[in-house]
Amino acid sequence: MLVEAGPTVMQQVHRTGLQASDIEMLFVSHDHGDHSLGFPMLALNRLWASTTLNVYAGLDTIATLRVLLALAFRGIKTHQFDIHWHDLSEEYEERLNLGAGVVMHTVPVPSPPGVSTLAARWEFTRGPTVVFVTDTVACQTTVDLARGADLLIHESSFSAVLQPDVDPVPIYHTTARQAGETAREAGCPRLALVHLGATIGDRPDVLIDEARAGTDLEVIVPEDGDRLRL
Ligand SMILES: [Zn+2]
Repeated sequence: MLVEAGPTVMQQVHRTGLQASDIEMLFVSHDHGDHSLGFPMLALNRLWASTTLNVYAGLDTIATLRVLLALAFRGIKTHQFDIHWHDLSEEYEERLNLGAGVVMHTVPVPSPPGVSTLAARWEFTRGPTVVFVTDTVACQTTVDLARGADLLIHESSFSAVLQPDVDPVPIYHTTARQAGETAREAGCPRLALVHLGATIGDRPDVLIDEARAGTDLEVIVPEDGDRLRL
């Protein structure tokens, strides 16, 4: 399962050593371009794959993904892409059995007017639990979703240290400090900071210290293609 399909998703997939045809499931949190604009290229690169692509996203997000595909590839019939769309509720929690011992749990999180954003939790039978939160504010909903997870993958669009004057709440984002607070409140031992803002992405050392806040929380800023063993 691939999570998000941003503009450079194909380059990122190749850095993991995988091909587009290896990807059988895709989760997209919401339809903003930094999470969705690579979708047509992923679909194109899977055209001759022998497997179906199962796309899991909210209704609005799926509508946007369909439009992106239709605009990008006029003349190619949608069914040729062999995509199975799975609508997730943008109002309620959902729990889906993905097969192979994996259950996905999604919840709507606070997002700007006109945008529906979902956070997700994957529980592996006799294995780890991973939670993904992006493009939302620090809130009880994300703490509850992340409760006890082995790995919290959380956005850090801003830095409270590097950008002390920025208030991320009105623009539905968070700082590395807030991501760290969410991880500690939820009892997660390990936090991966992603979705780094353009002006702070080259200071991972600062972000890691900011999120740890002197605690023993393990914080990483992963590079494309990094592998973690949980
Ligand atoms: Zn975003």
